[in-house]
Amino acid sequence: MHILAIESSCDETSAAVISNGKICSNVVSTQHIHQQYGGVVPELASRAHQQHILPVVREALQQSKLAKTELNAIAFTKGPGLLGSLLVGVSFAKAMALALKIPLIEVNHMQAHVLAHFIEDPKPPFPFLCLTVSGGHTQIVRVDSPTEMTIIGETLDDAVGEAFDKGAKILGLDYPGGPLIDKYAAQGNPGAFGFPIPEIPGLDFSFSGVKTAFLYFVQRETAANPGFVTERLEDLCAGLQHTLIEILLRKLRKAARQTGIKAVAIAGGVSANTGLRRSLQETGDALGWNVYIPKFEYCTDNAAMIAMAASFKYEKGIFSDQRVSPAARMDFSL
Ligand code: ATP
Ligand code: MG
Ligand code: FE
Repeated sequence: MHILAIESSCDETSAAVISNGKICSNVVSTQHIHQQYGGVVPELASRAHQQHILPVVREALQQSKLAKTELNAIAFTKGPGLLGSLLVGVSFAKAMALALKIPLIEVNHMQAHVLAHFIEDPKPPFPFLCLTVSGGHTQIVRVDSPTEMTIIGETLDDAVGEAFDKGAKILGLDYPGGPLIDKYAAQGNPGAFGFPIPEIPGLDFSFSGVKTAFLYFVQRETAANPGFVTERLEDLCAGLQHTLIEILLRKLRKAARQTGIKAVAIAGGVSANTGLRRSLQETGDALGWNVYIPKFEYCTDNAAMIAMAASFKYEKGIFSDQRVSPAARMDFSL
C-alpha cells in the first residue's frame, strides 16, 4: 500500500510517501517570505504553495523511488488552516487522484499532529493523552484509537504558539519567534521575572492575559531604561517560557489525574520547545507517567504525519470523494 500525502494548511508546503505504514520520504518547503511581515500573510502563502507544490511532490516521489502509477491513494490536509493555502493542496490532490483513478483521503491536520507519534517507535498505547501545542491550537486530546479522539481541554483565546510568537515580537525578535525564545531562554534565569498564571476552570487554557502582562511589563521597564530588553533578553525569554510551560503542565497534570491515564504525549510545533520537552519528562518521571516526545522533524508541519493519519484511514476503508472541499475550521468528528 503506497500513499502520497500533501500538507498545505499554513506556511509549509510538504509532501510525503508512506508504504505499508513506513514513511519513505518527507519533503518540507518552508515559506520564508512571511518573515518580513512578522506573521503569515494568507495571500502570499497561497501563492507560494502554488509555486512549491509541484517540485515538492516530485521530490517526495523521487525519494520514495516509486512511480506515481504505483500509488494506491492520495491524501491531503482538509483543515483546519488558511483557506487559500488549503485550496492549493486539496485541488492538487483531487486532480492527481482523478488522473490516476485512485481514492482520495482527507486528513484533519490536528489529528495528524497527534498521529505523528505512530511514525516511529516508541508508539504510545491506547488510551493516551496528547497535549497538542501549535501556532493555532492548544488542546488536550484523549486518544482512544487512531480514529477516535476527543478534545477534553482547549484554549479560550490565543494558542500557546501565538503567545510565544507575540512575546517574541514584543522583544523585537523575528517571526516565528518561538524557536528564538527557546534559544535565549536556555541562557536565562526562569525565576528572574514572574508573570501571572490564569485561573481557568476545568482543562481549558488562556494565554491572552500572560501576553498582555508581558507587554505592559516590557513597556514599563523600557520607559525607565531604554536598554532593558537588550540587557535582560535571556531572562525575559526564560521567564515567559517558564510561565507558558507552567500553564500547560498544570492542566496536563489535572487531565492525567482526572482520566487516570498515565501515557502522555506532546505534539505540534511548540512540542519542539526544549524547555517543554524537559519539563514534561521531569513531570512524567515524578508522577510515574510514560512520556512520548516526537522527533523534532515531526513536531512542526510536515506531510509525514498526514501520510500516517491517512494510512490508518486507508486500512479502515475511509475515503473521500471529488466533492470534498477544504475547511478553515474543523472539529474532530470523522
Ligand atoms: P496549527 O497546527 O494549529 O494549524 P501551525 O501549523 O501554524 O498551527 P505548527 O507548524 O504546528 O503550527 O507550529 C508552529 C508554531 O510552533 C509557531 O508558533 C512556532 O513559534 C512554534 N514553535 C516552533 N518551534 C518552537 C520552539 N522551539 N519553542 C517554542 N515554540 C516553537
Ligand atoms: Mg508553519
Ligand atoms: Fe500544525
